[in-house]
Amino acid sequence: MEMLAAVMKGTNQPLAIEKVELAPPKAGEVLVKIMATGVCHSDLNAIEDESTPLPTILGHEGAGIVVEVGANVNTVKAGDKVALSWVPFCGTCEFCRTGQVNMCESAFGPMFAGTLLDGTSRLSQNGKLVYHNSLLSTFAEYAVVPEMSCIKMPNGMPMAQASLIGCGVATGFGAAVRAAQVKPGSTVAVFGIGGVGVNAIQGARVAGASRIIACDVKPQNLEMARKFGATDVVNVGEVNAAGALKELTGGYGVHYAIDCSGNPTAAQSAWLGTRKGGTTVVVGAFNPKKELSLPAGGFHRVGKVLKGSFYGDVHPFRDFPIIAQLYLDGQFKLDELVLDRIALPDINKAMDAFHDPCCVNVGRTVIEFGGESA
Ligand SMILES: [Zn+2]
Ligand SMILES: [Zn+2]
Repeated sequence: MEMLAAVMKGTNQPLAIEKVELAPPKAGEVLVKIMATGVCHSDLNAIEDESTPLPTILGHEGAGIVVEVGANVNTVKAGDKVALSWVPFCGTCEFCRTGQVNMCESAFGPMFAGTLLDGTSRLSQNGKLVYHNSLLSTFAEYAVVPEMSCIKMPNGMPMAQASLIGCGVATGFGAAVRAAQVKPGSTVAVFGIGGVGVNAIQGARVAGASRIIACDVKPQNLEMARKFGATDVVNVGEVNAAGALKELTGGYGVHYAIDCSGNPTAAQSAWLGTRKGGTTVVVGAFNPKKELSLPAGGFHRVGKVLKGSFYGDVHPFRDFPIIAQLYLDGQFKLDELVLDRIALPDINKAMDAFHDPCCVNVGRTVIEFGGESA
C-alpha cells in the first residue's frame, strides 16, 4: 500500500514528507494505522547520527488501530487499539524464559540494522529499500510492526496519550515500580527531571512513597517535578545533593534513588544519598566514554544495591495496560505530557524546537493523523 511518511534521507537534513510503499505484514507482524506518535529527543539524535541506516522512517512512540494481522498473530485483531513498544521480545531466549523480557537480545540486531525481526524491511520507495527504525517507524500513516510490539489498550484510551506510554513513560514508571520496587511509606529521590524523571516521580507516587525528592540543576525542571508529585526539590547545582538528601531524611538518606540524568556525577550523588540497605537505580544512559566511580571505603558495610535498568525493567504486556488504567482512573498524568498536537507535514518544526534553549524536556509534541480517533 502507498502511504505518506516523513523520510530521513540524510544526516542533519530536514525530513522529507513523501509517499512510501508499505508491504503487508508477514507471520508474527501487525499492520497498524498510526493515530498518534510522539516526537522524541532520540529521533533528533538519530537525525544527527551518521550511523543511522538511510533512507529511514524514524518514530518509536506510537499508538494506533490494528488494520490487519499476519499469520500466527494471537494477541491482537483488526480494530484493536494498541500502544507500541520499541523493545519487542522473543519469548523463548534465556532472558525471556526468566521473565526479564526487557533484556531480550533478539531485537537489538534488527534495531541497529534498521529492519524488522526477520532481518528484512516492509518499507520501500520507487522500488528501493527504506529502513525501519526501532522496529516501528511511526512517522508514517501506517506501520508494520512485530506482534510483540503491539500492546492492546482499553477502549477509552485516547491515542495521543497512549502514544507516549512506550518510551519515557514506561521507562520512568518502571524504574520506580519495577526496578527499584518502591514500597509504601518509603522515601525516593529522582535525579534528572526530564521525560523519564517525571514518570519515575509518578511511579514512586503510585507505589505509595511518602516523600519524593526531585533533584536537578534547572529551577524550571524542579517546578515541573512538583506538578507530577515531588514533595521536595533539591537544586543540585547549588547544594551537595547527598548531604541534602540526608538532611531531608533524618540523616539516613533515601530508601531509593533513581538516576535518570545520564550523568555519572549525578549517579554517584544518588548512590551517596541512598541510605544503608537502600537501592540506587540508574536508568539514564551514560556516555560510554565516561566512568562511574564510587568510594571503595566501607562499600561492604552499606548493604546497598546499585542496579542498572534498561527500559525501567518493564514488561510491556503487563505494564502498559496498568499505566493506561491508572491514567483512566485519574492517578497518572499523561495529558500534561502532550504539549502540542501537529500534523505530519509540520514534523521538522518539532525537531527544530529541541534546539530552543528554553525547551523544557518534559512532555512531547504529538503528531496526529486525524480520522477515527478517541
Ligand atoms: Zn522516545
Ligand atoms: Zn528473548
